[in-house]
Amino acid sequence: MTARPVCRHCDEPIDDPADAVYLGHEMGNSGPGWDVWAHRAHADLVGPDPDAVRIVARVLLHRALRA
Ligand SMILES: [Zn+2]
Repeated sequence: MTARPVCRHCDEPIDDPADAVYLGHEMGNSGPGWDVWAHRAHADLVGPDPDAVRIVARVLLHRALRA
């Protein structure tokens, strides 16, 4: 798990470690979860849990398609 962090706001990889801001750890529904990062300039633009709705929708869609 040493992949480059990806910015939560713009989805671009963060090349400079000094420019990476750690926002926290997000729990996965079926795994260990993942760390959330953002560019320093974008950290303030990221909400507390901006992907929650999208993740839940994806899980529900996935389950619906498998059913
Ligand atoms: Zn960014």
